[in-house]
Amino acid sequence: MWERARLNLFTALTALALAGLPAVGAASLRAVSDDTLARSSAAAVQGRVVASSAHWDDAAGTIYTYVTIDVVKSWGLAGQPARVVVKQLGGIVGDTAFVVGGQAQFTVGEDVLVFLDVRPRDNTLSVAGLEQGKWVLTGSADAATSATREVRGHDQATVVARDYTSATALDALAALAGSRVSAVGAVLQAPVPDAARAGLDGRAGAAYTLLSSTPARWHEADTSTPVYVDTQSGGHPQYSGGGLTQLANAVAIWSAPGSLRLQNGVARGPRCFTNAENDHRLSVTYGDPCNEISDASSTLAIGGAYYSGGDQRTVNGVTYWKIVKGMIVTDNPTTKWSGFTTGCYEDVLVHELGHAIGFGHAAARPAIMYPSISSTCYGRAVSSGLAADELAGMAALYPGAGAPPPPPPPPASAPGTPTGLLSSVVGSTVTIRWNAASSGGAATGYQLIAGTAPGASNIGAIPVTGTTLVVPGVPNGIYYARVVATNGSGASAPTADVAITVGPAPPGAPRSLTAVSPSPGVVSISWLAPSSGAAPTSYVLVAGHTPGASTYQIPVAGTGLAGGGVPAGIYYVRIVALNGATPGPASAEVVLTVR
Ligand SMILES: [Zn+2]
Repeated sequence: MWERARLNLFTALTALALAGLPAVGAASLRAVSDDTLARSSAAAVQGRVVASSAHWDDAAGTIYTYVTIDVVKSWGLAGQPARVVVKQLGGIVGDTAFVVGGQAQFTVGEDVLVFLDVRPRDNTLSVAGLEQGKWVLTGSADAATSATREVRGHDQATVVARDYTSATALDALAALAGSRVSAVGAVLQAPVPDAARAGLDGRAGAAYTLLSSTPARWHEADTSTPVYVDTQSGGHPQYSGGGLTQLANAVAIWSAPGSLRLQNGVARGPRCFTNAENDHRLSVTYGDPCNEISDASSTLAIGGAYYSGGDQRTVNGVTYWKIVKGMIVTDNPTTKWSGFTTGCYEDVLVHELGHAIGFGHAAARPAIMYPSISSTCYGRAVSSGLAADELAGMAALYPGAGAPPPPPPPPASAPGTPTGLLSSVVGSTVTIRWNAASSGGAATGYQLIAGTAPGASNIGAIPVTGTTLVVPGVPNGIYYARVVATNGSGASAPTADVAITVGPAPPGAPRSLTAVSPSPGVVSISWLAPSSGAAPTSYVLVAGHTPGASTYQIPVAGTGLAGGGVPAGIYYVRIVALNGATPGPASAEVVLTVR
């Protein structure tokens, strides 16, 4: 189960850098109100940041930043400590960085009010709610005159700030800390490891590494269920065909050795790093449309995954959470990609897919999960593929047979217009069917658009997944319908309209009406059946003494009548055809003079 509001969900993202640059990760939490955050924290301290340094924590295999604060006031902590050391996930050690998106950042000399959680794993303190739990005091540390909280999510345009202009108000807020959660037993000064450890990775001796200290994998592999890799429509603009050949190759590379079955999915819009959908798919987005990656950095792309602790499975002795969404975003500057061969680009995709299926960075080449790209790619048209490190990793995370059938290429363009649109009516049930277009991208769905006049859409659009639509209970009438095909790249042009008649249909207008009076009181009138509409079952002769008048209405079975005894006068005559009780339009009117 994945629930957006639960804090057991997080993101781990790492980036492939151009040359020996840090890995990047990101995590996010929901924004909450000040009061909610204060009440849900275990403690609060106000004071000055006097030291900050990052170190590997060997027990967790990851990097933390240790922030030392000289305390002026505290709430919820035993003994009013004079100093605390807050242990923050993420940081930079040597040539490795673990950057947690939305994490509170500290500067030595800053005066702060921080709300604190107690880390269950080792009882050390950390800032509650990432950066949401940190206020910067603009007055002096012991007499706050104002404080500002700044919260930035992945969407950099979203900034939430509140100002507290009185120390009393700020203290009242801080006093809410510890009201629900106790800090009893907390380690007030997190022990700072002695020395930074060497190497690119926190797991010495491991040939491959996992995406984070909480391992995760696609459990779909256990049932041979495919995991679809969707691509942003159009693909990478700097590679022929959007680089979809390279993506398909990368997908096949990871699908070959184990039980994980990645398959090319559909083309659709950009996804970036949103966790707004729980679709159990992997998405590839091009050109950093969400502006996550600095153009000035050497980061080519970011890959990672959201995962959930709601479905934990132990495989080969390691307990893994379930990956619920994977994502890859490539950066936009053309200069980053210029000169890259398809082999280099394919290497990037293989590397980022590796992150999105649960792998972290490897410590040495030739592993494709090494954090910087190998210059050997310039001499290759395709990826170097998986090295021994990744093959060992696949055997550990995804044991079992691999080599799924080659997946179909994703649609790169909108579908063509459907063909063969037909309708049939039985009683009040209308059946409409059509054929998929033979041109354009594959359709993932259709829309039937209907109206009460040719080209009209006043009845609406009905989404259809197949190529047949059955609509029961349609009221009598004449309808006009057309079909468009859709996929992630867009919609086709509509088909021509099909006219659909439900219930008795009217005949057309009778033709070639003639009316003569060969002798006094005698008339002879004849006409031809309509050339359009339903077949008539009878007619009505309509006549009067002025144009358009309907003084006389005489039912007629056939297409003419003749007789005598007609009073003298001038008659304006027209004929209406009937289908049962349904009349059609009248014929043209003629004038008959009877003497
Ligand atoms: Zn990477």
